Amino acid sequence: MTALNDSGLDAPPPVEDPTDALSPAPPAGARRSAVPGGRLKFCYGPMDCGKSTLALQIDHNHARQGRRGLVLVRHDRSGVPQITSRIGITRRATEVAAVTDVRELVRAQWALGQHVDYIIVDEAQFLSPAQVDQLAELADEAGVDVYCFGIATDFRSRLFPGAARLFEVADDLQPVQVEVLCWCGLPGRFNARVRDDKILREGDTVVVADTERVIVETSASARSDAEMATVRYQVLCRRHFRSGDLGPATEHHGQLRLS
Ligand SMILES: [Zn+2]
Repeated sequence: MTALNDSGLDAPPPVEDPTDALSPAPPAGARRSAVPGGRLKFCYGPMDCGKSTLALQIDHNHARQGRRGLVLVRHDRSGVPQITSRIGITRRATEVAAVTDVRELVRAQWALGQHVDYIIVDEAQFLSPAQVDQLAELADEAGVDVYCFGIATDFRSRLFPGAARLFEVADDLQPVQVEVLCWCGLPGRFNARVRDDKILREGDTVVVADTERVIVETSASARSDAEMATVRYQVLCRRHFRSGDLGPATEHHGQLRLS
């Protein structure tokens, strides 16, 4: 196949480059006949930034337009399978256990004759990487739109495994815009774990399963009730997360006091 360039000379033949990663794309008309894939979206932000409220709003908007969805939660702070917004809205949700295959939840709906147009996952940072891959498969193979909401990093400022996998494979990454402010007034990005007004930087991110609440506690320490009562989380800007400065009168911040 040859083509003429502006000067009327034969264009050089296409170079066969086996290292070229780009594959040929079909023309737009061919794309229209293909089965459209769903989108996998991850909305992330620090604690208290309004993620659960946004999740419930998206569910409401889709349902109002006649779409059918599954609302899933990996762990919810209320202890029952529902999405709980801190401003007081709740909705029943399906609890996803560590061993749950998310695809099976969708197939169970299909078996009942129900279609699934979208999936909303709250506390998505606690999904396993395999569960995130299952959601990606549902988007690609079944055309399901997937909206994941969660925290990106743990109290050590390290990515949660589920959040890391979402950053790797999601189509869209969106920081939630409702800003939580550090005590200094800058946007807060880090969830500091605080005990006795000191930031804890060590410990495993082990979820205390018997309460099913979002409690991430070090497995190395003894967990007496008295100790749990003193553990809380505080959202800080990077500078104050790094320096460990919790600001004046930290007892009045009281974010997420776990008692
Ligand atoms: Zn600050």
